[in-house]
Amino acid sequence: MPFAKLGLRPEIAAAVAAKGYTEPSPIQAKAIPAILEGRDVLGGAQTGTGKTAAFSLPLLQRLSESNFKNKRPRALILAPTRELAAQVHQSILDYGHGLNLHSACFFGGVNINPQISKLRRGLDIIVATPGRLLDLCQRGEAQLGAIETLVLDEADRMLDMGFIHDIKKLLKLLPTERQNLFFSATYAKEVKKLADTILRNPVEVEV
Ligand code: AMP
Repeated sequence: MPFAKLGLRPEIAAAVAAKGYTEPSPIQAKAIPAILEGRDVLGGAQTGTGKTAAFSLPLLQRLSESNFKNKRPRALILAPTRELAAQVHQSILDYGHGLNLHSACFFGGVNINPQISKLRRGLDIIVATPGRLLDLCQRGEAQLGAIETLVLDEADRMLDMGFIHDIKKLLKLLPTERQNLFFSATYAKEVKKLADTILRNPVEVEV
C-alpha cells in the first residue's frame, strides 16, 4: 500500500518518496490514519520500526492544514536525550521540506541564547528534552499555551532518566484540549500510569 493511500498530501508523500520509502511500515499504516483523524495514540514501538515517521508525517500534515497562530508553537515533541531529539528534528526537517513550517530543537548543555532567539522569531514545532524546555518556559521564553499536539517519544526512557517531574510541570503549561501521542517500547507500572493520565481514548498501536 502506498503512502498516499493513508491520506497524506502530495508534498508529504513526495518527501517520503524522496527518502526512498516505498511502503509504510506496520506502525505507520496503523498510526498515520488515526493521527490524521485527531485521535490520541498509544504506540508500543522500539526504535527501528519507523515510529518517527509514524508521528511526524501526520503531525506535519495537520499543522500545514491549519493557520499559523501568533507565532506560538502548536506541536511539542519531547524526547529523552539530545541525540534522539536531534534525530527527530532532522526527520521533521526532511519530511516537512516545502511546507513552510518552522521548527527548532532544544536540549541542555549548550548555550540557551540561540534557543531563545529562535523562540522569539516564532516556531510551529518544538522538539526538546524536558529539562531545557522547562527552563525556557520558566524564563518566560517558551509559551506552550497554543500546543495542539503533544508527542512523548521513548516515554519509558524519559522516566528512567528521571524526567517525570519536569514532564508533569510541562503538562500543566499545555492546553487541556489537545492531541496526545505516546510512544514507549516498554510498559512498566509508572509508564502505564503516565500514559493513563495523558491519553484520552487512545488508539493502541503495537508492533
Ligand atoms: P525509527 O524507528 O523512526 O527510528 O526509524 C528507523 C529507520 O527506518 C529510519 O532510518 C527511517 O529513515 C527508516 N524508515 C522509516 N519509515 C520507513 C519506511 N516506510 N520504509 C523504509 N524505511 C523507513
